[in-house]
Amino acid sequence: MLKGKSVIVTGSTSGIGLGIASAFAAEGADVLLNGFGDAASIESLRHGLEAAHDVKVRYSPADMSRPEEIRDMADYARAEFGKVDIVVNNAGIQYVAPVEEFPEDKWNEILAINLSAAFHLIKAVLPEMKARHWGRIVNIASAHGLKASPFKSAYVAAKHGLIGLTRTVAMETAEHGITCNAICPGYVKTPLVEQQIAAQAKTHGIPAQDVIRDVLLAPQARKEFVKIEELAAMTIFLCSSAAASMTASTVTMDGGWTQH
Ligand code: NAD
Repeated sequence: MLKGKSVIVTGSTSGIGLGIASAFAAEGADVLLNGFGDAASIESLRHGLEAAHDVKVRYSPADMSRPEEIRDMADYARAEFGKVDIVVNNAGIQYVAPVEEFPEDKWNEILAINLSAAFHLIKAVLPEMKARHWGRIVNIASAHGLKASPFKSAYVAAKHGLIGLTRTVAMETAEHGITCNAICPGYVKTPLVEQQIAAQAKTHGIPAQDVIRDVLLAPQARKEFVKIEELAAMTIFLCSSAAASMTASTVTMDGGWTQH
């Protein structure tokens, strides 16, 4: 369905981003992987996707907290694929602490990776999207882009900001064949959340299973983790012609969390 398109998925060496990148390759798009991890594993992932789907898959180790590396990454994708049609701003990190104890370097890092990186990448690709009168931008926000939880000040602020950025970019690009939407997942069982389960189990002195049901999934009415495949399918849909009229949307996939 997306043969001939090329896509950058930030933070795609793990979790949700990897699922989204794999789905794009399966749809026939050329894909730029990005993120951290073991070099040999990333190379085997890259090669595996190319072989399975007969598409170009490249990798950029750009650090999303560094604007110049983000710009270089966009240039690299353009050099390898000839253009960038789609960006998925997915890279994100978490840190949990009360506001008065929240380390300033963690605040700055989360704002840089979870919010400012999306601004820098969108800025780098918009001119060519406008010139071709086609582009798709999907920002992976969070239920925490719509609702707050205690001890996640930087994450909640960044994700609320990402939704504001999504809506603004959508307004500026609406007549240029470009859409910009945010997906707001509830909890998804990825390495980012596995760390939180372990940390909360330690803090509360309760088993991991209790943390999952009584802490993490407490507001998520469905009481099940959102699946990576569901988020990948929604991302592909947002890039399809059927979603041409969807822009400035916040698509919730949270098992009923944010109706509260
Ligand atoms: P993850 O930890 O599994 O993956 C994060 C990815 O981002 C990895 O590839 C990592 O290498 C990359 N990354 C981290 N810092 C980076 C940096 N400075 N530069 C480049 N890449 C970097 O996390 P995940 O759970 O898959 O989360 C992906 C996105 O989904 C995040 O934006 C997260 O906030 C959001 N999200 C996750 C959940 C969840 O429950 N897991 C829920 C809502 C939203």
